[in-house]
Amino acid sequence: MIKLLLFLMLSLQGTIGVFSTPSHLTQENQDTEGYAAERTLKQEDQHTHEVHCSRERSRAAWEIIEEYLMPFVEQEKYQISRKCRLHPENDIFRDQEENKIHVDINEWRCGYCRKIFRGEKFLDQHFDNRHYNLLNVSESKCLADLCGALHCDFTMDSYSKFRKTKCNPAAAARNHHLCESLADSCFPVGQSSPSANRLHELFLRQFCDAHTCSGGRKPFPRGKKKHTSIFYLAISILTLMLLPIFYLIVYLHQRETRKGTQELKRVSQLGRKSKPS
Ligand SMILES: [Zn+2]
Repeated sequence: MIKLLLFLMLSLQGTIGVFSTPSHLTQENQDTEGYAAERTLKQEDQHTHEVHCSRERSRAAWEIIEEYLMPFVEQEKYQISRKCRLHPENDIFRDQEENKIHVDINEWRCGYCRKIFRGEKFLDQHFDNRHYNLLNVSESKCLADLCGALHCDFTMDSYSKFRKTKCNPAAAARNHHLCESLADSCFPVGQSSPSANRLHELFLRQFCDAHTCSGGRKPFPRGKKKHTSIFYLAISILTLMLLPIFYLIVYLHQRETRKGTQELKRVSQLGRKSKPS
């Protein structure tokens, strides 16, 4: 009986939530975070059945693509096609993730309705409840499904746990197969595109080779390029800026000393001239 009542209340709240979205700009801003969190928890049960895709793992997959693949793709000036599952369009959470505004350490703003949250977790929950209609779930666009191939565990907290578990040859073979199919669909070989050929090769080395139980192979042997290039750029700009300043200091110092010696000479000459009289 109580369960039935609770269910009725929840569904009522759900419908109110859906219908009140046009006026959220005025109403929601007045909502307290606690209220939002409470509602989040209540509504969670209602909408989770609609999305069978982990936001957290999708994010991990996206971060890996951004760090370990995209710098090389950009360097080759290669355009990834929509058929490739790594294309941003094929990540159902991409639009929402790009509407996250990280204002401060404890301040996350929703880009759709400008509401502010104390943590990314709360904003995620807000997206799930308030903006779930923005997710395009009609097609299989779950980036988290590629986590096996992309080594998401390598970057997520679960890595320490993941390393300790014994390697499963069947799982490794499955991931290797998925990884190779990604390389084939994203960087098709033999289409008279040398950059696609090079990226195909890179993808195999960077992601697929490590899917083996024989050990000794780590994922991402080519590393991440973006950060190092930014680092080198910063260093070179800094030296270029400091070099003229250094020379200016040296020049001014030399001028000062020259002036000093000239004055000394003048003083000594004056002294000599005054001596005879
Ligand atoms: Zn919002």
